[in-house]
Amino acid sequence: MQFSPEFIFSILIAIIIFNFLKDTFLDYLNSKYFNKNIPEIISDVFDKTKYLKSQEYKKIQYEFSKYSKIYSLVIVLCFFYFEGFVLLDNFCRESFSSPTVISLTFFGIIFFGNELLRLPFSLYFTFVIEEKFGFNKTTVKTFTFDKIKSTLLAILFGGGILSFIIITEQIIGDKFWIVAWIFITTLSILVNGFYAQIIVPLFNKQTSLERGELRSEIEKYSKKVGFDLSNIFIIDGSKRSSKANAYFSGFGKQKRVTLFDTLIEKLNNKQITAVIAHEIGHYKKNHIIFNLLFSVIQTGIMLYILSLFLYMPIFSNALGVEIHSFHIGLITFSILFTPISEISSLIFNLFSRKFEYQADEFAKKTYNGKFLIEALKILSKDSLSNLTPHPKYVWWYYSHPTLYQRIIRL
Ligand SMILES: [Zn+2]
Repeated sequence: MQFSPEFIFSILIAIIIFNFLKDTFLDYLNSKYFNKNIPEIISDVFDKTKYLKSQEYKKIQYEFSKYSKIYSLVIVLCFFYFEGFVLLDNFCRESFSSPTVISLTFFGIIFFGNELLRLPFSLYFTFVIEEKFGFNKTTVKTFTFDKIKSTLLAILFGGGILSFIIITEQIIGDKFWIVAWIFITTLSILVNGFYAQIIVPLFNKQTSLERGELRSEIEKYSKKVGFDLSNIFIIDGSKRSSKANAYFSGFGKQKRVTLFDTLIEKLNNKQITAVIAHEIGHYKKNHIIFNLLFSVIQTGIMLYILSLFLYMPIFSNALGVEIHSFHIGLITFSILFTPISEISSLIFNLFSRKFEYQADEFAKKTYNGKFLIEALKILSKDSLSNLTPHPKYVWWYYSHPTLYQRIIRL
């Protein structure tokens, strides 16, 4: 079967528009649930003022997300219809001769262009919306340095991985995907394992638990489940946001539970220990290993399909580019791959929600379910969470079950 470049072009546009409509539709469905009655068992989360504030927060976020999605769609479509890829490809070819440098410059410009175009939205979200609701604690200085650091990280890792793939492809041809897969897998195991040593210190200060009542309460529990206290850390999340959080990272000797200082401020010692119990549950049930495995398999599938697509000139021609190249092939591929990546993120969320129940259950069995419920309620209140999301919206996007679902299970 022979497709024309115009046909492939239409498929690309159809995927982009379909994805936009799907997101917009789910957002809309979700917004129809904003005024729904809050179920009895979580009716004590908000008082009247907090409830009204949460209603306003939901609406503002909805509007913001709507305009930001329309903005992105318009830019992407303009780029496609006004032959943006051709112009950029020509520019890179005229400036450099090495295919590797051409491809890297091409992606570099797209990356920076995208960052720049998104910046106003990112600024507005942090300094207007989050500020208005009292969540923002970031200064312009922290924000700027965060952007610089995350950009450098993206250049280092993204640029590094990309260079590796491009060079390997030039040397060994279509089997490049196997070598690239091994390389990315090794890198992600290292980054996952040493996340707390490599990445976190760039953005936050980490301290171990101070002596005191909280430490003794946690110690009693951690001894019982056989988790070393030296693996529990506190970071200064309050530097950026008043929202509280906790997470588990690493494996083997590098495993650790990280608590935001904001979490310690908001919860009492028993509630904090219940949250730690939940995080240790993720470790005991091997969720970190599963997630890593999931992404390794996903990367393998993606690279393999990429290796099939890359050598078909029609995918470059579809974007109006005559000379077939790695970077143009990758752009077409990334869009054609969207439906598959959407499905895989759906599956990931399905597992992730299951894991949250398992970690909750672990906390209930080994510590106390009541304190965990109290903690979840306080955290939902303070972050003005949506207590009545639409079930379809939850099914598609939520990596965690809703507060109501978790309390029912507990
Ligand atoms: Zn969890």
